[in-house]
Amino acid sequence: MVYNKEFFKNFILRLIPMFEEHRDHLSKLDSDIGDGDHGVNMSIGFREVSKQLDKIYEETEDIASFYKKVGMIILGKVGGAAGPLYGSLFMKAGDDVKGKNELNFSELVGFIDNGVKAIEARGKAVVGDKTMVDALRPAVDKLKEAAESGKDDLESFEAFVEELKAGSDRTIPLIAKKGRAMRLGERAIGFRDPGSFSSYLIYEEMLKEMKN
Ligand code: ADP
Ligand code: MG
Ligand code: MG
Repeated sequence: MVYNKEFFKNFILRLIPMFEEHRDHLSKLDSDIGDGDHGVNMSIGFREVSKQLDKIYEETEDIASFYKKVGMIILGKVGGAAGPLYGSLFMKAGDDVKGKNELNFSELVGFIDNGVKAIEARGKAVVGDKTMVDALRPAVDKLKEAAESGKDDLESFEAFVEELKAGSDRTIPLIAKKGRAMRLGERAIGFRDPGSFSSYLIYEEMLKEMKN
């Protein structure tokens, strides 16, 4: 399969209603161990993406620069920690595929990995800190392995999305070492990290677009 600029636009189009649908749930997760705004933050950001999507799609000549513009909107509009983190995911994803309008699966995997690396570079969280990195890093590592072993795109991506969900589940028993939940110490135990769940939801939409 090839993943063209339109594929990425359609994926982003899916994120807009997804964040509306999950807004209250994500904010509820954040009210357990944070300040209760994660869903609202993401929905505000993607409403703005929705307003500007056609314009930035027309204005940009490759996938990397289109994604970068999406990232700049998220950075500017999404408040809190998640804004700069998800902003950098979109802004840096295309660094290795500048000028391209089609990615093969291995390039798509590199694209996703670059986004996760950008989150790690900005937030300095590692696996076990009870953040979105707990979902993203192990899942991307498995996706890279699957892609290298030549496994089918869809099968590899399904396993990736399952691993994101599993990584989010693994945040539940943890004490937080980064983000607002850090202040709670042991009181964070028993609650899911909201950002790990939004990360899972994002790539679940990419999987749906792949199956489309
Ligand atoms: P805020 O906590 O500033 O209100 P949000 O509620 O939108 O921001 O986002 C919170 C999420 O951001 C957390 O659930 C966590 O996954 C993620 N997060 C916070 N700090 C970091 C960090 N340093 N590295 C990675 N992710 C982080
Ligand atoms: Mg919050
Ligand atoms: Mg906040």
